[in-house]
Amino acid sequence: MKKIESRAHTDPEKTQKMAVSLYDTLTRSVQEIRPEDGKTLRFYCCGPTVYGPAHIGNLRTFLLQDVFRRTVEISGLPVNHVRNITDVDDKTIRESNNKGVPLKEFTREWTERFHRDSHALNMLAPTAEPAATGHIRQQIELIECLIDRGHAYASKSGSVYFRVSSFEDYGRLSRLREREITTGRATPDDDEPIDADEYERDSGADFALWKAHKKEDGDVFWDSPWGRGRPGWHLECSAMSMAFLGETFDLHGGGVDLVFPHHENEIAQSEACTCKPFARHWFHCAHLMVHGEKMSKSLGNLYTLDDIQAKGYGPMDLRYVLTSAHYRQQLNFTIDSLNAAKNALKRLRKKADALIETAGITREAFYDPEAIIKNSPEDAGVFRTAWQELIDDLNTPGALGEVFRTLGRIEKASIDADGNKQLAFSFAKIIHALGLDLHPDQEKTEAPEEIRKLAEERWQAKKRKDFARADALREELNEAGWSVLDRKDGYELEAG
Ligand code: AMP
Ligand code: ZN
Repeated sequence: MKKIESRAHTDPEKTQKMAVSLYDTLTRSVQEIRPEDGKTLRFYCCGPTVYGPAHIGNLRTFLLQDVFRRTVEISGLPVNHVRNITDVDDKTIRESNNKGVPLKEFTREWTERFHRDSHALNMLAPTAEPAATGHIRQQIELIECLIDRGHAYASKSGSVYFRVSSFEDYGRLSRLREREITTGRATPDDDEPIDADEYERDSGADFALWKAHKKEDGDVFWDSPWGRGRPGWHLECSAMSMAFLGETFDLHGGGVDLVFPHHENEIAQSEACTCKPFARHWFHCAHLMVHGEKMSKSLGNLYTLDDIQAKGYGPMDLRYVLTSAHYRQQLNFTIDSLNAAKNALKRLRKKADALIETAGITREAFYDPEAIIKNSPEDAGVFRTAWQELIDDLNTPGALGEVFRTLGRIEKASIDADGNKQLAFSFAKIIHALGLDLHPDQEKTEAPEEIRKLAEERWQAKKRKDFARADALREELNEAGWSVLDRKDGYELEAG
């Protein structure tokens, strides 16, 4: 039998820790992401707009950011992770009006739902989660600075715009030339036609920093030197990121749709005021498609975590699917991929149980980042090829492939007692970075209420010998992804 080498490889010459690299949109190259201060990585993510449940596309972006943060942290480097809540913009105001619920109450409900989903998906809570409405003062101050420096102007109606032509570097991130910028939508967070307030702006490319109060805004407004109004969406992120992470920070992330204009505008507003570089690196996640199409309500292919659970899959199945493709590649989501995820997780769960047992460690220790850092080698020992894939541009599919390959090799090898502990913790290191919760209770999927109701109805139909009705209900359950197994005095529901 082959003996697996399980000792830590430490290079005494190497003084710097291994860094995680990412493709930096700003330089269009893979860069090592190191903290400027050498101590803590400062990472800002554009958070959810809380006017409805997050869809699985939004969740993919947040989950991949979570994998990045986990990988950095388990490598031993703390992360100051700030992710905002967009709780005032055109969409939140419109939807709260449609529902007749005050904006604050409306966004609180959707924020809670987002927290519930994030927790179920095993996402780490950000270090800070500022809400846009809690930082109006900082946003007004930023506008004042921009007006003072000649980068912004107020219109007659009391809106304030950023003068794009005043910022020479505009377009550096998205590499769009001015000609293309001026013909694009200047304020895509506006649902009104592009020319609605065009007469107010000096150029079509200029975007709103402050929006004067309109009738439709109802009681949503704040007082400002330019009159009543509310901040523009782009400004919110500039103000909150700088308030929490400083004028220059290490990394800024979001979905690829945010590169232009949202992030381009964030750079312009921030750098025009501070005269310092804003984010040092930019991390963008490619979009999720569903069955080959863009996700949209009208196509009926917009899924939430609840929708996935109603089909009999657990949050870990979804986490696995959404994180197991490379972040720079579009992911084509299919329901079928959840079945493959379920099987892969089953295998990993079995391995985790076996490794925990042979190493004689507790389950708590296996999930404890401090114990993992203490007991696994920096390069993850036997799992070093998987670790290497992860830290090299966050190659999650590569890492998973290597994990399964390594697990196969271990099966055929003998390992000494000392090695077992290190082996279990090295495996734990990768599992922690991927954020997979392999607790046995994650395997069970509770049928949602409407499914349980259908099954009960079917059971009653069967009892009264209405077999046609019982069959029709069985069919309905099968279509929803559930099968019923009849027992002598009852039935069981099984997903898949
Ligand atoms: P929102 O709640 O609309 O502000 O978006 C939250 C995050 O989800 C942003 O980073 C978006 O770029 C991202 N996002 C939106 N649609 C998708 C999608 N289909 N796939 C991946 N990420 C997305
Ligand atoms: Zn943002």
